[in-house]
Amino acid sequence: MQEIDSTNATLLPSQILEEKVWQKNLCSGCRACIAVCLADSLAYDHNRNCPVQVNPCIDCKACLDACPRLPDNLEMIVSPEIIGPYLEIKNVRSKESCSRFQNGGAASALLAAALDEELVDCALIMGLDRWSQKSHPRVVWDSGDLEKCAGSKYTSNDVLESVKDLVKDQHVKNIALVGTPCSVQAVGLLRRSSNEYAVKLAQKVRFMMGLFCFDAFNDSVIEKITNVIGEPSWRIDKLSAGDGLMTVTLRDNRVKTIPLPALAEFIKPGCKGCGDFTARLSDISLGGLGSAPGMSSAIIRTPEGMGLFKIAEELGYIESWDGVRIEAIEKIGKIKLKRNGF
Ligand SMILES: Cc1cc2nc3c(=O)[nH]c(=O)nc-3n(C[C@H](O)[C@H](O)[C@H](O)COP(=O)(O)OP(=O)(O)OC[C@H]3O[C@@H](n4cnc5c(N)ncnc54)[C@H](O)[C@@H]3O)c2cc1C
Ligand code: SF4
Ligand code: SF4
Ligand code: SF4
Repeated sequence: MQEIDSTNATLLPSQILEEKVWQKNLCSGCRACIAVCLADSLAYDHNRNCPVQVNPCIDCKACLDACPRLPDNLEMIVSPEIIGPYLEIKNVRSKESCSRFQNGGAASALLAAALDEELVDCALIMGLDRWSQKSHPRVVWDSGDLEKCAGSKYTSNDVLESVKDLVKDQHVKNIALVGTPCSVQAVGLLRRSSNEYAVKLAQKVRFMMGLFCFDAFNDSVIEKITNVIGEPSWRIDKLSAGDGLMTVTLRDNRVKTIPLPALAEFIKPGCKGCGDFTARLSDISLGGLGSAPGMSSAIIRTPEGMGLFKIAEELGYIESWDGVRIEAIEKIGKIKLKRNGF
């Protein structure tokens, strides 16, 4: 799929990524290039905030097909349209209640329906070490484990790194994946790739749920937050970013807030080159913006997303209403695009 101009004809794929993405601080950190590299040639360098070549490359070019930050791939991703294509937009909430749901618990409830109905073998989502507040990709096989992973992890966008083992596992035929827009973009790009392994990976992802995303932070933001609020990390029950504040709910239900500008230095460098707020390539996009507290806004985009939504609604996992404030989503999306130079 990737067309490489003649000036780059002699460069290795990792050199192209170095020149066009890594050196320019454009890498989103999505790890898609690492996930599609059969030669295990790439690994993530946390000091540079981008991958690095660690093993010989077989020049298959799958990483070039996957990278959402390569200029040749941007055309499919960046658009002045904030909402993007959709079939329906709904307020939605889980019929179960759980204090750790970020908004309406829609993501957890849709995943529960997909797992219980055996529409997928597993869900690839983000887990959290509740002692340190550091997050990590987690594969969930049983819907009973979903609540443990509910809530937004503002320091992670590396869910794709774990997809590699799942693709190798012959027993795993279908995966439901939740990701930030950059993760979703990479899988969307792989769905167009002609590389055999990339196609295999993309075909295993049956449902893609994208989360609205303004910014993500690097891990050291946790230390900053605990210093500002004067509490250890293990006391934190939930973080919630919105309305210019990071709201910290503690285990004893006390609530502390930090203005988001005080955390600006911890924003991941690649987030400042991001041109998608609503995960336009997902099957269903979910965010808090546009809905009342305790509900999620769901942008249902594809027939696959609509199928899952209807199954979850008909089986009583979720309930939904019209009336999402689309203009509120567009307003914040436009602010993001303008700040990032699109
Ligand atoms: C970095 C980040 C920034 C966000 N910014 C905004 C914003 O500006 N405006 C807005 O309206 N919404 C934003 N969201 C989305 C919002 O916070 C909620 O995630 C969304 O509304 C879904 O809530 P829910 O109650 O339906 O999900 P829940 O039922 O609580 O489930 C959330 C699911 O997402 C998974 N998950 C959490 N974090 C990640 C992650 N980083 N990568 C992959 N999977 C993850 C969890 O493991 C869980 O399965 C952001 C989310 C993230 C992760
Ligand atoms: S994906 Fe292919 S081209 Fe890219 S680094 Fe790995 S082996 Fe090389
Ligand atoms: S943006 Fe993603 S795919 Fe591109 S180099 Fe960075 S980690 Fe790899
Ligand atoms: S802003 Fe969100 S979607 Fe964009 S690169 Fe950062 S984590 Fe990914």
